[in-house]
Amino acid sequence: MNQLYWLRTDLRVADNTALTAAMNAGPTLALYVITPGQWRAHDDAPCKIDFWLRNLAELSRRLSELNVPLLIRTLDNWGEVPALMAELCRTHRIGAVHANDEYGVNECRRDQAVAEALRSDDVPFHRHLDQLLFAPGSIRTLAGECFKVFSQFRKVCYNRLSHSLPRCLPTPAAQPWLAVKSDPVPASIAGMASPLPALQRYWPAGETSAHRRLQAFAEHGMADYQSQRDFPAEPGTSQVSPYLAAGVLSPRQCLHAALASNRGELDSGNPGAVTWINELLWREFYKHILVGYPRVSMGRAFRSETERLPWRRAADDLAAWQQGRTGFPIIDAAMRQLLATGWMHNRLRMVTAMFLSKNLLIDWREGERWFMQHLIDGDLAANNGGWQWSASTGTDSVPYFRLFNPMSQSTRFDPDGRFLRCWLPELEALDGRDIHHPQKANGLFPADEYPMPIVDLPMSRERALTAFRQLSEQR
Ligand code: FAD
Repeated sequence: MNQLYWLRTDLRVADNTALTAAMNAGPTLALYVITPGQWRAHDDAPCKIDFWLRNLAELSRRLSELNVPLLIRTLDNWGEVPALMAELCRTHRIGAVHANDEYGVNECRRDQAVAEALRSDDVPFHRHLDQLLFAPGSIRTLAGECFKVFSQFRKVCYNRLSHSLPRCLPTPAAQPWLAVKSDPVPASIAGMASPLPALQRYWPAGETSAHRRLQAFAEHGMADYQSQRDFPAEPGTSQVSPYLAAGVLSPRQCLHAALASNRGELDSGNPGAVTWINELLWREFYKHILVGYPRVSMGRAFRSETERLPWRRAADDLAAWQQGRTGFPIIDAAMRQLLATGWMHNRLRMVTAMFLSKNLLIDWREGERWFMQHLIDGDLAANNGGWQWSASTGTDSVPYFRLFNPMSQSTRFDPDGRFLRCWLPELEALDGRDIHHPQKANGLFPADEYPMPIVDLPMSRERALTAFRQLSEQR
């Protein structure tokens, strides 16, 4: 019987668990379902959707080399998927459906509905662990609970990895030709803005491009990762997040690249490689939190008492933050980097998120949504985890009294203002000291081009601290 491999966020042929399982079981067809309404409801960024489609086009070529036809169907949302799957299975005499697991609440409900629809036709639906190194729920405390503290979670992960490393699967061999025609991959989705060509050039599609980037980082960046990763003007991080989020790379491929650059050592050897593996485990941690505490994917704070914080409704401040017009160069440069490239450096994600949720005291969910609507690597678990960490509403998050000062972050992590100058051309003439505090630059401040700060830092810091302190008093 034919097999159906249902592609989602696993846009690759190498080390693909579900594709390999399907092709081992019989002649395989692949399916991708375009669901614009669902994607809009999930705030998926237009640049991310464009990235999916560009990768899908590359993948279609790779699949055709394996003689796997790619069917493409468009539905508005996931509610319509079970009926489609049942119909496709009948039309193509499918014996089993294979997919790699996805972990959001809606994704799980969708997959359960598909499994039920297929069950009535006696078609098994096999779901595989692929997006993560460890299945959510498989890393637990001695009391059988989900870890809430990253360092403890990581310890168990290291222990498991040191006993058994997940291996990478090779690309399957080509199957005999099938008499089913592949569908063309659309270049865009009606009603969705296409990103600028510069952004597309920055994130080339396909497994070859993804591996080139991973390999270049493993050879030239990994060793210095620990010392360089906080400086946004430096190419100090891998920039593979969009490829990992879309599944063009697997976490196993990333782990093995790190091990290869560290003579096989996992938690010893080069500190750069060890720190980078740690980041891969943060990625795991937040997905485990998402599954263990599904309320975080439904717009709820992990720490429920923080739901009582008196968030400000301040539309003008929010718009200034979104557009990079706050009058704080490091915030504005970061927000403009996001709009122009679909990506933001991790240090600046923390700085901008803390500025919004603490200094502006605007609900972190506004920032979470804006990031999701613009990030090419937007990932529900990592984005939610990062926002709740920064807003001190999450598990193992930054203590509320450790507020980053945007000015000190700016001078510390962009000491000569190179990053600022790149994104704020109106401040280009200022020297490495004044560019962090342009309003203090005597005579050179371009008052008609760059705004005054929208908030007083000491006052806003006190306001945030008071709001959090009152939470503990109200208990
Ligand atoms: P590297 O530093 O090279 O790290 C390698 C990989 O590890 C990354 O590609 C990513 O997959 C993973 N990783 C690194 N740091 C983290 C982390 N803190 N949490 C989870 N995974 C991590 N990451 C996303 O992939 N998608 C998001 O939507 C996202 N939103 C974020 C929002 C906020 C407010 C914050 C503070 C962080 C967010 N992150 C998100 C985490 C992190 O900022 C990015 O993964 C990282 O900047 C990607 O760049 P890189 O590939 O060069 O990372």
